[in-house]
Amino acid sequence: MQPPIGIDHLGIAVQSLEEATRLYGDVLGLACGGTEEIPDQKVRVTFFQLGDVRVELLEPTAEDSPIAKFLDKKGPGLHHVAYRVADLPATLMALKAAGVRLIDKTPRTGAHGMQIAFAHPKSTGGVLTEFCQQK
Ligand code: ZN
Repeated sequence: MQPPIGIDHLGIAVQSLEEATRLYGDVLGLACGGTEEIPDQKVRVTFFQLGDVRVELLEPTAEDSPIAKFLDKKGPGLHHVAYRVADLPATLMALKAAGVRLIDKTPRTGAHGMQIAFAHPKSTGGVLTEFCQQK
């Protein structure tokens, strides 16, 4: 398959965006790119831009949010790594052909209106892996 272009973002699960923003914004001094609610995934996201890479802080907005489940199970921490690709449908086909288990068989719309798809951590060495394509 065509290799990813780069790391697009790191997703970090947090209990409180406000509290986590203190570290990433005030202490590390990363530029805050704003906060977006993604009702689909029951999550609020605060972005920090660092060169080409974003750090995305993910806070659950409901008990049954996937992030709430993650926090219950593992506590706050790295939730997923997202790779930027040039052709998401082709990437998904190549992953499927290689036997990688996909959570999203077809691209869906994520934050920033990007096309995204997740591969299951069981087939990516325990790391929830996202592939995304900018419009
Ligand atoms: Zn993501």
